[in-house]
Amino acid sequence: MENEEFDVIIVGGGPIGSIASLLLSKKGLSVCLIEKNATPYPFPRGIALNGFTMGVIEELLGEKWPDFDYTTAIEVGYVLGKDRMNEPFGKMQPPVIEGEILDLDHYGFINWFNQPQLERLLRAKIDDDGGIEALYGHEALVLWEDEKNYITIQNNSTGDTKTLSSDYLIGADGGGSFVRKQMGSELKSLGKSIHFLIVDINAPRSALQPGKEFDAGGHQIIDPDGKRPTTFLLCEGINHGTYKNTFRFEFALNKNDDHAKIQSPDSIKKLVSPYLVPDEIKIVRSTIYKFNSLISKEWRKGNMFTIGDATHQTSPFIGQGLNLGVRNTLNLVNKIDLVSKGVSEDRLLDRYQVECFPDSEFIIKQSLFMGGLLFNVKPHINLIRGIIHRLNGARGKPIDLFPAFVPETITIPNGFKPKKSSQKGYPMYNYKTEEGLPRSLRTYNPTKYRILCKDSSGDVDGLVQEIPASIQPLVISLSDGKNGKKTSGTSLVSCQRDEDLKMHQKLFKGVDYVLMAPGYTMLGTYTKGQEKNMISDYLSMFCLV
Ligand SMILES: Cc1cc2nc3c(=O)[nH]c(=O)nc-3n(C[C@H](O)[C@H](O)[C@H](O)COP(=O)(O)OP(=O)(O)OC[C@H]3O[C@@H](n4cnc5c(N)ncnc54)[C@H](O)[C@@H]3O)c2cc1C
Repeated sequence: MENEEFDVIIVGGGPIGSIASLLLSKKGLSVCLIEKNATPYPFPRGIALNGFTMGVIEELLGEKWPDFDYTTAIEVGYVLGKDRMNEPFGKMQPPVIEGEILDLDHYGFINWFNQPQLERLLRAKIDDDGGIEALYGHEALVLWEDEKNYITIQNNSTGDTKTLSSDYLIGADGGGSFVRKQMGSELKSLGKSIHFLIVDINAPRSALQPGKEFDAGGHQIIDPDGKRPTTFLLCEGINHGTYKNTFRFEFALNKNDDHAKIQSPDSIKKLVSPYLVPDEIKIVRSTIYKFNSLISKEWRKGNMFTIGDATHQTSPFIGQGLNLGVRNTLNLVNKIDLVSKGVSEDRLLDRYQVECFPDSEFIIKQSLFMGGLLFNVKPHINLIRGIIHRLNGARGKPIDLFPAFVPETITIPNGFKPKKSSQKGYPMYNYKTEEGLPRSLRTYNPTKYRILCKDSSGDVDGLVQEIPASIQPLVISLSDGKNGKKTSGTSLVSCQRDEDLKMHQKLFKGVDYVLMAPGYTMLGTYTKGQEKNMISDYLSMFCLV
């Protein structure tokens, strides 16, 4: 190794550390990535990514993006029992607009992927990058902060140790984070831990038991009789799959389950037999996980930070652990870039936790809430579900759970107080592409700061040009299309169903501009004449006023 001083050292080369290193290197910073394992963890953990994360990965993988296997989910059903798969009481399904499924031509609300494949592609990209010193098979053992951050690492094959230094040090070293512990940051519990048996199966579609066929998606089965709430996912769609023959089961474990015995191949075959013909399956892996709902109390100490599972761990019910990590990592990377280049003052780095904590806490709690709702087999909850089912699902009209899973907009505590009435309009806003396909605004450049303008952006375009290029927001004009306007460039026209037009009205009720941070965080709403206030508020986000 020639260089022992870096702009940034990252401990942990799982998905989040790898993504952080590529993002930082793209900004021109020198990065050292320290990962104790020589090869990526070989078994799938996360299998669902949202559109935001897909956008980040597409940009990072560049020419390797076509190698990334994924399938966009088109349905997830919530059913009372394993024999009632075809009569869900609730369904999470994106809307079909003029015969086209929302976002399906691109990537949608859930995209099934294979975490080991993603980690391999990220490592290949890091190898090609040139700006990242990747030290696989090296473990961080000691760290301290003086003028700079210092870290002593050990080469796991030779036992040799050496000390490196950097301006910034980031712990992306997972739930048991060494960096977080050395920073002295404690974890806050947001709910009970739960145990699940996770099983990945390789089998052809023909292995599905009669009555269990469905398209790319899954079922969450409450199973009050067997008391074994189960998630059953099929990652390959009938007409649009790329990730072949993959099934994921997540079985809730009861207090009395024998953890060792339940993992035997015979036991697993018995557990999956209501869904798949046991003779046709190959068990790829089975692991028992304890899912925590934890969040670190301090995300920064001096110039040390944590990201990913080192900062927050969530239950799997809405598949957000990795997604959350990616969103927050992007936030921190942008801030380190601006501070290290002297665009913003150091205090900008304090805003990493201020901006990301509320959203992260909300998502962890939302996941627990969904888990409680879906996996609670207490008699009175079953009764309520049964009544709802009789009123809805049993008549062939399941409750539409799609909006419940689409993240709501959220305001950060010291954001600029957007009106409550406009807060939920953004993620459910649907527009048509130039080709006439329906897309959700939440998947439109979600990694950027955006100003959503009602009808015309004319009064803000000039003001935005005066903002330093590295932080200029994307200006988007949104029209209801009543005057026959069509989407072109950054001028997007709403889909024309009644609910889409209502959403347009809701988003702009009493306002002409909606200022959005990356992801779903709404910063403020403004009317015509307040353009300069809006830009001033925006600059304050970067400690520039
Ligand atoms: C069964 C399961 C299902 C899940 N489903 C989803 C899902 O559908 N969607 C979703 O978004 N998320 C999901 N998740 C969560 C997701 O997998 C994690 O959030 C993600 O892996 C966290 O990435 P990370 O890089 O922060 O941590 P990790 O993947 O844990 O990586 C940390 C890395 O740090 C290294 N390391 C640790 N200590 C040191 C040290 N001292 N020195 C050097 N290296 C070190 C480790 O070897 C490891 O490679 C799921 C998780 C599980 C277990």
